[in-house]
Amino acid sequence: MTSKDSHSLDPDDWQALRAQGHLMLDDIVDYMANLRQRPVWQPIPQHKRDIFTEPLPTAPTDLAAVHDSFMQDILPYAAGNTHPGFMGWVQGGGNPVGMLAEMLAAGLNANLGARDQMPLEVERQVLRWVRELFGFPDTATGLFVTGSSMANLMSVLVARTAALGPQVRQHGLAAGGKRLTAYTSAGAHGCIAQAVDLSGLGFDALRVIPMNAQHQIDLAALQRTIAADRQQGFTPFFIAGSAGTVNHGAIDDLNALADIAASEGLWFHIDGAYGALAMLSGEIAPRLQGIERADSIAFDFHKWMQVPYDAGFFLVRDGTLHHDAFASPAAYLRREARGLAAGSPWPCDFGPDLSRGFRALKTWFTIKVYGAEKLGRMIAGTCALAQYLQQKIEAEPKLELLSPASLNIVCFRYRSADSDRVNADLIADLHESGIAAPSATTVNGCLAIRVAVVNHRTEQRDIDALFDAVISLGDAAMQ
Ligand SMILES: *Cc1c(COP(=O)(O)O)cnc(C)c1O
Repeated sequence: MTSKDSHSLDPDDWQALRAQGHLMLDDIVDYMANLRQRPVWQPIPQHKRDIFTEPLPTAPTDLAAVHDSFMQDILPYAAGNTHPGFMGWVQGGGNPVGMLAEMLAAGLNANLGARDQMPLEVERQVLRWVRELFGFPDTATGLFVTGSSMANLMSVLVARTAALGPQVRQHGLAAGGKRLTAYTSAGAHGCIAQAVDLSGLGFDALRVIPMNAQHQIDLAALQRTIAADRQQGFTPFFIAGSAGTVNHGAIDDLNALADIAASEGLWFHIDGAYGALAMLSGEIAPRLQGIERADSIAFDFHKWMQVPYDAGFFLVRDGTLHHDAFASPAAYLRREARGLAAGSPWPCDFGPDLSRGFRALKTWFTIKVYGAEKLGRMIAGTCALAQYLQQKIEAEPKLELLSPASLNIVCFRYRSADSDRVNADLIADLHESGIAAPSATTVNGCLAIRVAVVNHRTEQRDIDALFDAVISLGDAAMQ
């Protein structure tokens, strides 16, 4: 029994909590096991939205009742990225092993900002594995972050500190009088521009270089732009290459970018948010050649490697530069040679977060339980499905391929005189049908249906279902 003056949030009856916990586990396992019987997505009825406008509850509610509300009001109206028919944007499907690990991590409630604790060794283990995967040296540092948006921002901050010296952290960007410029391709993710903005350089400091026919950064244009900037007194400092662009799955010529960065003395970052982990596949890895020469890489375990959200990672070749960009002395973060405050440097010395969750555990479980080979085959499998879809599109006169499958992404449209409107409607109709959820993008000025096969659960039958639904909805729109 708890004492009368206890304010603990623990239950009086652990057996009842355990029983309820088992029910919750059963429900979510049933959900995962039977995903295919559900719609990918369904519109949220207004009366369901209204449930979430209640005032702050002051009195307790039974856990079982709150769980019921989860099952009835939340779970059916999620975005559907666990579902095999989800092919929109670039999102991971999660996995049952990672889910169970997340439960263990929540129970442990580890805070991975600092101190001498085994959870940090798990994170360091994952760091060692990614060094190995990307051919980085033992002196490379890295850490889990929310996602590649954060990792890309951190790369600009490290590169800025490398270019201007640690004093930039004291005096700010303006003090040195240098006007830094950064370079990326028109196919790069929007978070690269955001990173340049958030780091205080301003959007204008980013030079957006056109793409070649393969949707890679145009190397000649890049070199011309760098030279022109130097002539005008700018200080070029940063190139962000792409390993898997969101629109086309294009991979920049990473070796050529590494050469340019080396000869120009620029930081070479790679946004490998979804594509970099294709290194797990022996088949695809050769296309990422040059990735081992990057100064830093941003990538997401929560996309192609299917770790439950969120699990981004930031890897830096030069651990000293990485440390110098973020570390700061704080009295309450005193470091000791022994005791719980030993073991520094800590993750809080390598990024802006102090308190951090145990993202490493679900990642460690996922890698250990499935093994790198199976994960690599799964990644290659999604690319094979994109090829399969491309072949079907090419054999169907009603459809037009807008960009061929590179990696796992295919863009196409239903042919029509009023194509943009018809295809936009078609995508929304598909979402509402619950059959499949591709997304929309623009390719060469045309609205395209964009299919990104990321989910490990997607199979040929799901591609067939998408294809058949596109044809029948497109035909209906032509009536
Ligand atoms: C998803 C993605 C991002 C953003 O990553 P988040 O994990 O969503 O923050 C950046 N670049 C590319 C190429 C992406 O696919």
